[in-house]
Amino acid sequence: MPHIQQLSPHVADLIAAGEVVERPASVAKELLENAIDAGATAVTVELRDGGMTYLRVSDDGCGIAPDELPTAFLRHATSKLRTANDLAAIGTLGFRGEALAAISSVSRLDVFTRQRGAESGATLHLEGGVPGEVQPAGCPEGTSIIVRDLFFNTPARLKFMKRDSAEATAIAGIVNHLALSRPDISFKLIRDNAETLHTPGDASLRSAVYAALGREFALSLAEVSGRDGALSAEGYVTRPLNGRGTRGMQTFFVNGRLVKSQLLTAALEEAYANRIMKGKFPGCVLSVTLPLDTVDVNVHPAKTVIKFVNEKQVFDLVYHAVTDALEREAAPQETAKPAQTGFYRSMTAEQFRAAQEAKSAPRTAPPAPAPRPFRTAVPAVSLGELGGRLRVSDAVRREEPRVPCAVRPPEPPRIEVPRPEPIRIPTAPAPAPEPEQTALMPPEAPAWRIAGEVLDTYIVCEDGERNVWLIDKHAAHERVNFDRFRAQETPIMSQTLLTPLVAQLGAAEYAAAAERFDLLERFGFACEDFGGNAVLLRAIPADIDETEAVATLEELAGKLARGQDADPAAARDDLLATLSCKAAIKGGWKSDARELRALVDKVQSGEVEYCPHGRPVKVKLTERELEKMFKRIV
Ligand code: ADP
Ligand code: MG
Repeated sequence: MPHIQQLSPHVADLIAAGEVVERPASVAKELLENAIDAGATAVTVELRDGGMTYLRVSDDGCGIAPDELPTAFLRHATSKLRTANDLAAIGTLGFRGEALAAISSVSRLDVFTRQRGAESGATLHLEGGVPGEVQPAGCPEGTSIIVRDLFFNTPARLKFMKRDSAEATAIAGIVNHLALSRPDISFKLIRDNAETLHTPGDASLRSAVYAALGREFALSLAEVSGRDGALSAEGYVTRPLNGRGTRGMQTFFVNGRLVKSQLLTAALEEAYANRIMKGKFPGCVLSVTLPLDTVDVNVHPAKTVIKFVNEKQVFDLVYHAVTDALEREAAPQETAKPAQTGFYRSMTAEQFRAAQEAKSAPRTAPPAPAPRPFRTAVPAVSLGELGGRLRVSDAVRREEPRVPCAVRPPEPPRIEVPRPEPIRIPTAPAPAPEPEQTALMPPEAPAWRIAGEVLDTYIVCEDGERNVWLIDKHAAHERVNFDRFRAQETPIMSQTLLTPLVAQLGAAEYAAAAERFDLLERFGFACEDFGGNAVLLRAIPADIDETEAVATLEELAGKLARGQDADPAAARDDLLATLSCKAAIKGGWKSDARELRALVDKVQSGEVEYCPHGRPVKVKLTERELEKMFKRIV
């Protein structure tokens, strides 16, 4: 056994640095938090090559006294804590006194700083944590820290870095979040010489949301404001009809600190239970404020994990505040309920007739949807709607407001516009017919008899051997789609939209999507960069309803953003599963008889057993089992 020795301070620093500084984004986060703690009103982040070669954070905060400059870079050196008692009530973002030490030990770092009101400033250069001399410097009030060649002395760490673009995206995410947490501070992000974010710093959360998350998202929000004694929850949540495909647009702050909290997510989502479509997630920018001593932020070095002393109180506060906001939203427009309540059941006779008519023939444009006020003035009609197969459910859904419309009117009151002439496109090619409806292998055994459909979800069948089968029609259709997509070598057939849709994505999702427009094209989406984290959709997969297109893209982008390093085949399957799901008939939709027949035949042939997520598509009840249930036999 080698002798036991205390590690040299340098090695100890490198080990500690690994915890604080995982990647360029963690450097940006720490430096930005310092700027905020220093009382800055404007902060600029500039980066090159994903922050690996150059990352600068400049603020107009209080500055550092020249004689304290070397101290700031020592481990456990902080101006924010004095005694152990202070730990119980932390009001600044930093407090561990580790960041500057850690960052400087794994980079080449320059700091320029001038205290407010001071005649001149000072600068210091550190290389691998070793400081040079403090020099006088002419610089503006505030602090500017430049980090170059991150991890130059820790090659092992360097190997784990993702592509520059992924690192840059992660930094953009951090800046976005901090900008949302502090609408009173103006944040600017310059990425490889291009300004990609600039928030006004006018103290309005809505304008920060607008700048950071885009116009479409900002317009989809309901205001939240709740209080319970010393606790408060403020901010915005998306209206139920603007649910997102992922949780990527949920942002929580606790006492101004960005946090990840299952408790807060659960409280938020609980408030949407029965209001939002299945598979949709609310978006939010929610800020919870509570006494400093009722929350522990010192749980994890990155400080994104927190513990609440009174979890139930926090849960209830957020749940009720969000519920109130949603109820206020819903009150004046009670009719705009999402479809998840089973719209078919609530159809009036008139609607039913309209649906039947729509089903039996006219291939004209559907009624014009409400006008879309910006960027697009023409009602949206897709080729799919003009020439595609119409389902009863399609027609019924048209009775509903066009729900997940990508570009929404800013205000609820709808202006009556003269309905335009139906648009006819005589030469419009119809999308490919569903192959499973025509290209079926007739099964050898007598076809299962379809006894009917129950709960608008399960098909009930009887086979030739006196067994009863229950088939989950959505799961079965999902699998059929999945197999079809997967077997296909050519790109997935797409339908061109007459009016493009706009998908507003979260920063990470957007960057991931923008990088893989080629892949999305193979999946049937013709995408264009629309700026401000938005993607313009000119064509969508032919199998996907136009109303589902944006949500589908959101979900695909979410998966791209999360699973960049996964095995490519598995990643492709995962994406195809999303597409298959979106293209499948839904539980709760009324399906026509031919559609059910086609599915049942597929299931009977044994071709589809499990949905792409692994759930079974069919359940068998033998006659004997039924007899047992009824105590006909024992
Ligand atoms: P912590 O933020 O946990 O105190 P850091 O290592 O991040 O530890 O910073 C050490 C100290 O350096 C801070 O406590 C603060 O006094 C000073 N400091 C760091 N960055 C700035 C800045 N941008 N403006 C003013 N002071 C700063
Ligand atoms: Mg700090």
